[in-house]
Amino acid sequence: MARIGWIGLGNMGNPMSQNLVKAGHEVIVWNRTKSKADEVIAAGATWGASPKEVAAKSDFIFTMVADGPTLHAVTLGKDSIVEGLSAGKIVIDMSTVSPAESEKVNEAVESKGAKLIRGPVTGSTVLAQNAGLGILASGDKATYDKVLPLFETLGKNQFYLGSGEEARVLKLAINTMIASTMQIQAEAVVLSEKAGLDVGQVCEVIAGSAVGSPLCGYKKAVITEGVYAPAFSVKLMMKDLDLAFEAAKQYGVPMTATAITRQSLAAAAATGRAEKDFSVLTQVLEDASGYKR
Ligand code: NAP
Repeated sequence: MARIGWIGLGNMGNPMSQNLVKAGHEVIVWNRTKSKADEVIAAGATWGASPKEVAAKSDFIFTMVADGPTLHAVTLGKDSIVEGLSAGKIVIDMSTVSPAESEKVNEAVESKGAKLIRGPVTGSTVLAQNAGLGILASGDKATYDKVLPLFETLGKNQFYLGSGEEARVLKLAINTMIASTMQIQAEAVVLSEKAGLDVGQVCEVIAGSAVGSPLCGYKKAVITEGVYAPAFSVKLMMKDLDLAFEAAKQYGVPMTATAITRQSLAAAAATGRAEKDFSVLTQVLEDASGYKR
């Protein structure tokens, strides 16, 4: 069994790290807010005093944190992962960050003779709990082969995409589709609601129709209920679309639908919904349309 370090115990990192503990691995964890480690420690993990200590005591060090600046803080800052690294160790970052942010981490990791695997995921908290995530990976292939059995404990669908930052780009591209799907679903739902249809039935029909992706199925309950507890927050989705725009600029690709969706997310954040699930776009449009459930 592997000696695994885990940094970041938010909505995703918590259930993911628990799956590694359940599989019998020795897991040492660190999170900025220590109380969020209670569950994984109760399941059998131990607490590390800092990312540096976690890295020093592990062969595989996973990170699952909010964004690029946070990833840099836990990998490159004081008492960070890089300070605890030595040759032969493997760092696996599963957060959604930009290719440029990732390259900076890679340079620091390689300077210690260690390797970085980029492993962003598709799927949200339910799939994180059920070990049903899709894992988009890139980095050194021989290193990836060593990490693959651990990825198989975390996710159902494994994709090796190349030796560099390929996984970062595809993850951002998929998220633009996910966000825009919620925008167009919001338009269809609110139009139907205002015409007198039942929201639950509308979501049910959409999920089962030709445009009903798995996402429409996952979000059926939350849109029907109208509370929008965060599986993936508006704030994080805005971050991802902004990173996608950076990549779009770099490669010269206009992303029109994504730009419109980004404005709706800005409206959600500006009206106090930044921490809500991003499917709250339906509620934003209900307000803009003068519709009250
Ligand atoms: P989350 O619940 O907001 O958790 C964020 C994590 O980052 C927490 O551990 C948080 O620590 C830590 N963090 C934030 N700012 C920090 C700082 N300044 N210093 C140290 N730690 C900090 O986010 P999540 O939903 O788990 O998402 C994690 C990553 O996965 C993100 O990159 C996201 O885009 C990506 N992702 C999410 C989903 C999803 O459905 N949620 C799906 C696919 C990919 P605290 O606990 O102390 O706040």
